[in-house]
Amino acid sequence: MKPAPFEYAAPKTIAEALDILGQNDLDEVKLMAGGQSLMPLLNMRLARPSLVLDLNHVEGLDGIREESSGLRVGAMTTKRVLEDSDLVRSQYPLLWESTVAIGHAPIRNRGTVGGSMVQADPASEYPAAALAFDMEFVVMSSAGERVIQAEDFFVTYLTTSIEPGEILTEIRIPRLPPGTGWGFQELARRHGDFAIVGALATVRVESGLCCDPRIVLFGAADRAIRVPAGEACLEGAPPSEASLTVMGDAVFDAVEDPLSDVHASAEYRRDLARVLSKRAMSEAMSRAS
Ligand SMILES: Cc1cc2nc3c(=O)[nH]c(=O)nc-3n(C[C@H](O)[C@H](O)[C@H](O)COP(=O)(O)OP(=O)(O)OC[C@H]3O[C@@H](n4cnc5c(N)ncnc54)[C@H](O)[C@@H]3O)c2cc1C
Repeated sequence: MKPAPFEYAAPKTIAEALDILGQNDLDEVKLMAGGQSLMPLLNMRLARPSLVLDLNHVEGLDGIREESSGLRVGAMTTKRVLEDSDLVRSQYPLLWESTVAIGHAPIRNRGTVGGSMVQADPASEYPAAALAFDMEFVVMSSAGERVIQAEDFFVTYLTTSIEPGEILTEIRIPRLPPGTGWGFQELARRHGDFAIVGALATVRVESGLCCDPRIVLFGAADRAIRVPAGEACLEGAPPSEASLTVMGDAVFDAVEDPLSDVHASAEYRRDLARVLSKRAMSEAMSRAS
C-alpha cells in the first residue's frame, strides 16, 4: 500500500522547522526522524498527515557529547552512533546493551534515539533505559525550551507528554553513580523482534547491603515502568538469592494487568517480569563494586 498524498518539508534549522509548524494545523503535521515507525504507519494509511516535516536536514540535532554531568545525545542521533561509540560502550554499558537489543542493524542504522523515545512503544528498550538513568528530555517550541523528566515523559501506549508543535531536540543522560552495578534482560521470540518483556536493573552494594536498587520493566504495562514495591524489598537487604526471591515475588504482584496478545498471555508476562527482573538484578549485584 502507498501512503495517502502529503506535502513534504525539509527545513535546515530548528527556527525554520518551528516556523513551518507555526504556519500549519498541528493536527495535520507529522515530524519524521528515521521513519522506521512512521513510514509503516503512512504506508498502511494509519497516519494521514497533510504535511510530513522531515527533521533529517536540521542542523545541530545529532551527535553525542560528554559533559561532567553525563551524556548529551541529539534527538536525531541514530542508534548506530551509540552502538559504535566506545564512550557509550565503556562508560554507559547499560545504554549500550539497550541499544544493541533494538531491532536489526538496518533499523538501528536509520532509527533515531529521539524517534524511539517519542514513539514510546511500551515494549521498547529506550524508554526503559530513560527511567533507569533518570534521563531528561529537552523540547523546543515557538514558546521556547522546556525540560521534561523521564518519569513525566511517558504517558501511556505510544503517547508522551510532548505537545503538538514541540520538537524533541536533546536527551540528557546522567552517569550512574560510581560503583553502580547494572543488568539487562529481555525475551523476544526471535532476535530483533520487540521484546515480550524486558527488565533493567541497577544497584549499589555498600557495607554488604543493597543501596538504591532500581527495577524497570518494558513490555509489562502500557509504558515502561519502575517497580517501587520490588525496589523496596531490596533496599538495605543483602545481595542474596533469598532477597532476589522476595523481590521477584513483589514484582509479580506489582505487575497487575500486563498486555495479553498473540505473543503472550498476561499471566506469562507477569511471570516473565518476575524471572527477568531477578536475572537482571542478579547481574547488577554481581557488577556492583
Ligand atoms: C522490524 C522492526 C523492528 C523493530 N524492533 C524494535 C525493537 O526491538 N525495539 C525498539 O525499541 N524499536 C524497534 N523498532 C522501532 C525502531 O526502533 C524505530 O526506529 C523507532 O521506534 C522510531 O525511530 P525513528 O527515528 O525511525 O522515528 P520515526 O519513525 O521517524 O518517528 C516516530 C515517531 O516519533 C515522532 N518524532 C520523531 N522524532 C521526533 C522529534 N525529534 N521530536 C518530536 N517528535 C518526533 C514522529 O513524529 C513519529 O510520531 C522496530 C522497527 C521495525 C520496523
